[in-house]
Amino acid sequence: MYKLEKLIRPNIWKLKPYSCARSEFVREGKKKDEHVYLDANESPFNSPKNRYPDPMQKELKEQIARVKKVKPSQVMIGNGSDEVIDLAFRIFCEPRRDNVVAIDPTYGMYQVCADINDVEYRKVLLNPDFSLDGERLLRATDIRTKIIFLCSPNNPTGNLLDRDEIHRIITHWEGIVVLDEAYVDFSNQPSWVKELNQYPNLIILHTFSKAWGLASLRCGLALASEEIIHYFNNVRYPYNINTITQEQILLYLSMGEDLKNAWAKKIVEERDKLIDALKKVDIVERIYPTDANFFLIKVPDAVYVHNELIESGIVVRDRHTVSLCDRCLRITVGTQEENERLIEALQWIKMPSMRAYL
Ligand SMILES: *Cc1c(COP(=O)(O)O)cnc(C)c1O
Repeated sequence: MYKLEKLIRPNIWKLKPYSCARSEFVREGKKKDEHVYLDANESPFNSPKNRYPDPMQKELKEQIARVKKVKPSQVMIGNGSDEVIDLAFRIFCEPRRDNVVAIDPTYGMYQVCADINDVEYRKVLLNPDFSLDGERLLRATDIRTKIIFLCSPNNPTGNLLDRDEIHRIITHWEGIVVLDEAYVDFSNQPSWVKELNQYPNLIILHTFSKAWGLASLRCGLALASEEIIHYFNNVRYPYNINTITQEQILLYLSMGEDLKNAWAKKIVEERDKLIDALKKVDIVERIYPTDANFFLIKVPDAVYVHNELIESGIVVRDRHTVSLCDRCLRITVGTQEENERLIEALQWIKMPSMRAYL
């Protein structure tokens, strides 16, 4: 039986959170500028930058909730998804006692946050085609496992994980499932947010850093039950989202999702053109299927090709040391012009052994 109290660290369960001077009070009723603010030791000069951001992030949560079709109380806003990932460890995992289970390969931040929080990180290999074996993942859990990390579409592999396998994990597991959907806008599958209310143990991560084109603002989301989000809000820094970020995200949300969706569509079109062109390039041995704005290619020597590309002023991600990604580079889709430069550069690269015959 899923019971949140059994999963949350006892110190967090009973935490009395920091209460900001103004949090219970301000931005309700009266307009901001009708008050005289002498409560937070701010400077009276340099308005409006002298004021602390809204710690409740009230308006931003309302607009995010509207776009995501959840309740504002189901939204935790983080300084990037990376903050949300770290908070998940701090809320659920007792250092040196609890563990988490994650697919391998996947996004590197889960392991970094586990290591920082001194929490055992158990990796479970995906199948060689990067598909998910839910049973194998569940077998790696034990009584001290608090979180299972899933990422779909997965990074660095680019593929969606099978819906039935994800469903099996969420329903056959009494702990927390973190499902990272940073790239969902590029895929042709709907987000799991639609089903959020069916699964009390599910935490979905979304971000403004990818399809929304707002990585510089540092804004990521956890979407979950009201009960879970309550603890995220208790543990996060009160002012984790600065005023400029709150205002800018509100501005983009006021335009709805059309611009983001148009960008995502364009990127997917350019991705498919790029993949077609790379099929004709000699040193590209294999191109892996993708549901994201990036994909893996296999080359004869990843380090060599990576360095040659840097010589041409093109930076891609060398993933050859990652599980199941031997000799792989990860390529992010750029503009048409950027992608053409990549194709051109790859066409000119000759492997050392091939060179010997020239
Ligand atoms: C890029 C990425 C994120 C986004 O992280 P932010 O901190 O929100 O910028 C989250 N998860 C995965 C798997 C990613 O690749």
